[in-house]
Amino acid sequence: MKIHDITVPVFEGMPVYKNKPEKQPSLKTTTNGHVTESRLSIDVHTGTHIDAPLHMINNGETFETIPLERLVRQCKVFDLTAAEEKITLKDIESLSIEKDDFILFKTKNSFDEGFNFNFIFVAEDAARHLAEKGISGVGIDALGIERAQEGHPTHRTLMGHDIIIMEGLHLKDVEAGEYLMVAAPLKLQGTDASPARVLLIENL
Ligand SMILES: [Zn+2]
Repeated sequence: MKIHDITVPVFEGMPVYKNKPEKQPSLKTTTNGHVTESRLSIDVHTGTHIDAPLHMINNGETFETIPLERLVRQCKVFDLTAAEEKITLKDIESLSIEKDDFILFKTKNSFDEGFNFNFIFVAEDAARHLAEKGISGVGIDALGIERAQEGHPTHRTLMGHDIIIMEGLHLKDVEAGEYLMVAAPLKLQGTDASPARVLLIENL
């Protein structure tokens, strides 16, 4: 059994969306000489995480409504490292994407060291295609699944079709193919997202 940990590390100074300082995690450690305790303060969209509909839809569903059965399951990794700027319908229409699939897009983003303002994202026409296919979830190796699209049509299209969005994956060392995915988010309640540990397992 081989386990790929496709989670990014969480630490002060890690890459955060648009390098905004207020999105940096903060870790405060205290000790009385014997006992050490740390307090961690993070945005729920820090690093590898899963969005809930509330993130982009007013009064949308909150994080605890996403069942584990949809996060621990088979998934398909597609290699889209040839895509420039964004993933469009043309890039994915010939891929074997089927109803109820959970798919992960590996792009050039996985090779970035810090936050790249020009990260590859999923364009609206590709999101519509995924919605028409009726997939269950989609993940990408960027801190956002879209950028520079007025009104966030990619998030809205996906969330409007009950498609789970996973962001901040690290797929540099993962080849295209099928894996057992174990995506284990924190058990947060009432939130618009949650950080998650995401593993891909092969040769089970
Ligand atoms: Zn997010």
